[in-house]
This record gives sequence, structure tokens and C-alpha cells, in this order.
Amino acid sequence: MTFFQKIRHYALALGFDACGISRVAAVSDAERYTRWLEENSQTDMTYMAQYVDKRLDPRLLVEGTRSVISVALNYYPCKKLPADVPQFAYYAYGNDYHSVIREKLRRLLKYIKLSNPFAAGRCFSDSAPVLEHFWAARSGLGFIGKNTLLIIPDKGSYFFLGELMLNLEPDCNDTPLTASCGTCRRCIDACPTGALERPYYLNANKCISYQTIENRGKISPCIIPLLSNNVFGCDICQKVCPWNRFAQPHDNPELTPSEEFLSLDLKKLAAMDEEDFQRLFGQSAVQRLGLSRLKRNVAAISETPDK
Ligand code: SF4
Ligand code: SF4
Repeated sequence: MTFFQKIRHYALALGFDACGISRVAAVSDAERYTRWLEENSQTDMTYMAQYVDKRLDPRLLVEGTRSVISVALNYYPCKKLPADVPQFAYYAYGNDYHSVIREKLRRLLKYIKLSNPFAAGRCFSDSAPVLEHFWAARSGLGFIGKNTLLIIPDKGSYFFLGELMLNLEPDCNDTPLTASCGTCRRCIDACPTGALERPYYLNANKCISYQTIENRGKISPCIIPLLSNNVFGCDICQKVCPWNRFAQPHDNPELTPSEEFLSLDLKKLAAMDEEDFQRLFGQSAVQRLGLSRLKRNVAAISETPDK
């Protein structure tokens, strides 16, 4: 077994569901990203337009990087909110994934350093300008679907991603997968807001995930009638994806929702105070939204005809 095969095995032993390795290079489809920025599809997520040079070449982000190790962690929940209550994106059901992934990646780096004292690297999970879908696809971990998400064949798309930028030359070749959407366009047709304006292209300003999570101001009046009961994020373009028939529930206690979370309804959300919010969401990705913006979202979905 080569050293990088051992790294992959150890990543799986740490609880990651998939691990891929790429030789570092400049991002090959940089034009797609720069065009997306030029069309202002990142809306007011200005950080997406910062450090573009680093985003398009990890060697400028972490000097000396020679390989990118991409990992995926399943968040598909075994228990779900009933369909008739306000919906939270599945990724927000458990603890904040950033810390869970980074901790596991740090343990992976420690293992690598034990075998090679010259090894050095940095761990990321949605925490730096990294095109994580690109690197995961480049390593053969999955392919990017028309919904712009990484799809792992036979596993689906409900995965958190993380990266370890490492200063060691990989001893294996990248084996990217070919995109496997074929003629399917279910995600595009099912998106209630038309945010998937064309295959592989998301206009964030129209996306319910952006409007209910990233948007710090008022929710766009054109989007409010289309929110349905999506109070935090939106999984519609994943739920309709045929690849997600392969999704298997995780058994990770850190990502498992509490019974109190699973019993939430519109009335409880509308009556929630800061103490309730911290108890329910203190460790979760919803924490970053804060109670006032959660209440903003609750008020918005209360206005929609189908909540
Ligand atoms: S997350 Fe929802 S709103 Fe955004 S692109 Fe997917 S289906 Fe459309
Ligand atoms: S729904 Fe169809 S087109 Fe969209 S990502 Fe899945 S396979 Fe691709």
C-alpha cells in the first residue's frame, strides 16, 4: 500500500465517508468562476470575490502545497422534521460541521506527520477561499451536478466537504469522474425560484439558501411567496436528484438532531426566546444566523400561502 493509500484508509477510519487526493495545480476551469463573479451572481457575499488568486491556485493560499486531500462526511439524517412544519436544511440538523470536520482533519494531519516528520499542511472546511467542489471532483471523489453540488456516485450529495493542503507530492494520479447528469434536469425544473438559471449555474440572489441564511437584510420580496416552509436553507434541488436515492443515513452522534429540534413547529419558532435559541442552536450552523434573522425567516414563511 502506498503512503497516500494509507492516508485514505486512515481518513475513512476517522469516520470520513470518502477521501480523494489531487496533485495541486491552478484551477482548470477558472473562467467559469470569474464569469460567475462578473455576472454578480455572488450578490452581496463579497468574500466570494476576495482572494480570487488564492481561490484559483491553492499554492498561493498555502505556500508549498503539493497535494489537496479532499474528504466528505455524510450528513443525511436518519430522523427528519415532519413535512408540514418549517424546514431546516438537513446539514443544519446537528452540530456545526466546520468544527467536526476540521477536528478530524487535524487528526489526519497528525497521523501523516507521525509517518513523515517533514509533512506540513493546513485544514479547511468552508473556512478559506478554496473551490472545494472543484478539488473533490478533480480527485475523483465525485462529479459536479447541474445543481452545482458535488455528487458522489452511489452515495448522493448530502456531504460536507473538507480539504487538507499538504506539502507532500502525491504518489497516485488524479482520476476525475465524468459528469453523470445525462439529460436529467430535475433540479433545474424543481427549483421554485429559478435560481439554477442554467445547468451548473446558480444565481445566489434567487436562491432560498442565500436569502434565508447569508442575506443580512430583508428577504427579497420576489422570493418570499416562493419560500414555502423553508425557514433555514433549502434542499429541494438535492431531494429531487436521482442520485440521492442512494443516500444512507449517517450514524454520527454529533450530527444527530435532538428530539426538541425534531418537535419544532411554526408556533414554537415564533415564540422562541434567546434562551431557547441558544439551547437548541448553540452548537449548530443556525447559531450564525442569530435569533433575530431566524424570526425574520419565520415571519416570511408565515406570509407564504403554503407554509
Ligand atoms: S437550494 Fe433551493 S432555491 Fe437554491 S437552487 Fe436549490 S432548489 Fe433552488
Ligand atoms: S437532479 Fe439530475 S441534473 Fe440535477 S444534479 Fe441530479 S442528476 Fe444532475
